[in-house]
Amino acid sequence: MSRILIIEDETALLRALADSFRFESYEVLTAEDGEAGLRLVRERKPDLVILDLMLPRMSGYEVCRKLRAEGIEIPILMLTARGEEADRVVGLDLGADDYVTKPFSVRELGARVRALLRRAGRLHTLPDSLHFGDVMVDFRSYVARKGERVLDLTRKEFQLLRILVARAPDAVTRDELLDEVWGQDCYPTTRTVDTHVANLRVKLADNAQEPRHLVTVHGVGYRWSP
Ligand code: CA
Repeated sequence: MSRILIIEDETALLRALADSFRFESYEVLTAEDGEAGLRLVRERKPDLVILDLMLPRMSGYEVCRKLRAEGIEIPILMLTARGEEADRVVGLDLGADDYVTKPFSVRELGARVRALLRRAGRLHTLPDSLHFGDVMVDFRSYVARKGERVLDLTRKEFQLLRILVARAPDAVTRDELLDEVWGQDCYPTTRTVDTHVANLRVKLADNAQEPRHLVTVHGVGYRWSP
């Protein structure tokens, strides 16, 4: 699961956010000032930072600027107070990826965090190829083979497999798979995902009764197991 760092000096808010993200199964790190936050980013390498702008010791701007100057490209979501419009613009200029204005709902913040993590995952970790057993899949050229035999995978099957492999060992929900693979281009249902996974299992010779690689996570979706 993803590790997020929350840097916020309002203790009650920090605690509420940390509890809520932990409840969603994130690993949560916290810091109450800019310097401590910056140190945690360097030492613990979180996947995403939620960064308050007005902080003791070192402001959110300064944290953001330093991280980007060091070439650290993790997503940064800024928390700003109402009326800090100009501040937001500066923050985005300094390399923040998104912002949420206080007061905000925890649900909205959660949705923004998921979107940023998804985008970051897509940009950085999509694999070019996959090898397991005697199967070889090249995601760039859309070629798949099992031994010498060419596997006839559809474009959607390639894309679905690529995302599951990229996110492994995490499970990916059916809704996320629909977003990532089908996007806006037709009107699929979550059933569409199930059908494609079933077809992929047949083509990759993964046992449908007891799949080893394309594993069903009941009530959630699927995950790739190498
Ligand atoms: Ca503050």
